[in-house]
Amino acid sequence: MNGTCSTPACENESRWPRIRRAIGFCDHCLADLIAKCDATAIALGDAPRARFRTRHKPCGAIVDVSLAMIRRGGWVCQMCKWIEHGAENRRLGYPNLVGDWPVERQEQLLAAAGMRSLHPLGDQDGNGPLNVECLECGAAQADTLFGVSEGIRLSWLSCAECNAKRFKPTQETIRTRMESLGLRLVGEFTGDPGLPLSAVCTRCSTPRAVSRTAVCGGSPPCLRCDGSKLDPDAPHRVYLIDFPHLGDRGVYKVGITHCANGNRLRSHEKAGGTVLATIEVA
Ligand SMILES: [Zn+2]
Ligand SMILES: [Zn+2]
Ligand SMILES: [Zn+2]
Ligand SMILES: [Zn+2]
Repeated sequence: MNGTCSTPACENESRWPRIRRAIGFCDHCLADLIAKCDATAIALGDAPRARFRTRHKPCGAIVDVSLAMIRRGGWVCQMCKWIEHGAENRRLGYPNLVGDWPVERQEQLLAAAGMRSLHPLGDQDGNGPLNVECLECGAAQADTLFGVSEGIRLSWLSCAECNAKRFKPTQETIRTRMESLGLRLVGEFTGDPGLPLSAVCTRCSTPRAVSRTAVCGGSPPCLRCDGSKLDPDAPHRVYLIDFPHLGDRGVYKVGITHCANGNRLRSHEKAGGTVLATIEVA
């Protein structure tokens, strides 16, 4: 038994096992949710994080979407966007987009990109939209002939999914990053960049629990070595910052920071704050 569907009052069985009462829907409710997104279901996923293959009704494109997109009630369709942009570009007569794209040239382009078209190809210009599937990972997506050819020229991975995977942090990339900061990773990366990782300072052997997000965001790698600047007896500054955009009347913040650098104040300014005063206290 997978457990019952998450839709209130639906007694059908969920399509996948609802591990620890995670979200789960029956085929019928999934088809209903997809219909509300102005699409039809082609292949339903077998897990909450799986891809769901759909056909977007307005444009006919085959697109893979997440359960979150389906539950949100729709998504911005790339194919619809390219069709609209293409018409606009043609109207404006963008010269860089007007090319001659007979079917054979499109086939060559797709082979070079590691893609196959999900629809029969016809002669079109560079503004022409493509609805393609990645031969590597199988993800369906939309692009234009111009977009794919530019991507190849600039050595991008043509598939958005494969490209995103390249930049996803892994145990290996995090280990390298930590090493460059003088930390040896001893724990396993769970995949959540916000969770603290166990590491040891390679200079003073002090253990350090720090998340990838924090360490990449400028947090000191080692609280002992790098934290010497953060000595509580060292001079420090008290500051007053105005965040005029917060709340109805704006918000004032009083804070305290060291004198080693202005990172803390800069990050407040980046968040829209104005530093009104700083006072150094010994
Ligand atoms: Zn249901
Ligand atoms: Zn569409
Ligand atoms: Zn791919
Ligand atoms: Zn250290």
